[in-house]
Amino acid sequence: MPIINRIADYQEELTVWRRYLHQNPELGFEEFKTSDFVANKLEDMGLSVHRGLAGTGVVATLVSGDGNGGSIALRADMDALPLQEKGSIAHRSETPGKMHACGHDGHTTMLLGAAKYLSETQNFNGTVQFVFQPAEEGKGGGEKMIEDGLFKLFPADEVYGMHNMPGIRVGEFAVAPGPMMAARDNFEILIQGRGSHAAMPHQGVDPVVVGSHIVLALQTITSRNINPQESLVVSVTQFHAGEAFNIIPDTVTLKGTCRVFNSELQETLPDRIRQIVDGVSSTFGANSELTYHKGYPATINAVSQTNFCADVAKEIAGSEDGVDLKPTPSMGAEDFSYMLQERPGCYIWAGNGDSAGLHHPEYDFNDQLLAVGASYWSRLVEQRLPRNM
Ligand SMILES: [Zn+2]
Ligand SMILES: [Zn+2]
Repeated sequence: MPIINRIADYQEELTVWRRYLHQNPELGFEEFKTSDFVANKLEDMGLSVHRGLAGTGVVATLVSGDGNGGSIALRADMDALPLQEKGSIAHRSETPGKMHACGHDGHTTMLLGAAKYLSETQNFNGTVQFVFQPAEEGKGGGEKMIEDGLFKLFPADEVYGMHNMPGIRVGEFAVAPGPMMAARDNFEILIQGRGSHAAMPHQGVDPVVVGSHIVLALQTITSRNINPQESLVVSVTQFHAGEAFNIIPDTVTLKGTCRVFNSELQETLPDRIRQIVDGVSSTFGANSELTYHKGYPATINAVSQTNFCADVAKEIAGSEDGVDLKPTPSMGAEDFSYMLQERPGCYIWAGNGDSAGLHHPEYDFNDQLLAVGASYWSRLVEQRLPRNM
């Protein structure tokens, strides 16, 4: 059975909601209109709605049955990206420099669709927490929700997430136990040399040369220091130095990011980077300072919840082949990881078809996925919290 018939009947309404959100993108922790829209829809459905968790987050609770069932949380993200939309779709962003290029407009709508179906049918026994989080894109809205008491105020035994994925056919899914997305840390390195005339380098300490050696030496963490079976990316993404042809600058600033699945390996990175930065700098007579920002943890799916979700996804896909059970984990990062650290659960990718990639200025969420995703959420609840045990 692919999508639920009753949800297929919502298609037109969900498309209108999704396109409204697409036209009105808001950045992390500024989702004022978006969270109002979400909370109003949930109130119209008769759910108990809490506004303002983690600033602009919204949580709605739906209880059905005898009150002895379990509780689960379903999570969607609501924020857009600071990106100028390109392309000519009729519902393109009306706000210059902001767009829903990651499909969070669709994620929000799919979860609203499930809330509508489940509140109408109530064919489950237990509690569902519908979690609409702010600020997934780099600002840690998921972590802030937990700090502000998400699972204390809205108890849930398990937590589930979903992200659309370009390149997978609509109606198909990909999911696996263990790591789905990497942890992401960022770092900054300030190299203090001594400026001089470019024609007289012996009178100074050239931080450009020091920085170049540091960039190269950092590559050896992945290639020489870690077990080759592990995955690690260390990328220097910014190298700021100098302003003239004939001046060796005083300082250089490097910035970059680390992506890794293994949390023990992640713990070793600040020390290893510091050793390299200090060692290379002292070799050349410079002083350097490392600032290491620990970011999102890795997104790790729990085994039994993931096996369960794979079965739900197969049902929605209509075949065993419609669910890829061995997707290559992404080195991207996702702050649903904070929720998975608190509760066992599963994060699944749902096919967005042949669209532009995530974070691309021509990306658009595929409206055909709305009923698929809402059906997945709804079936997950009906099967995880069954009415007749
Ligand atoms: Zn994104
Ligand atoms: Zn996203």
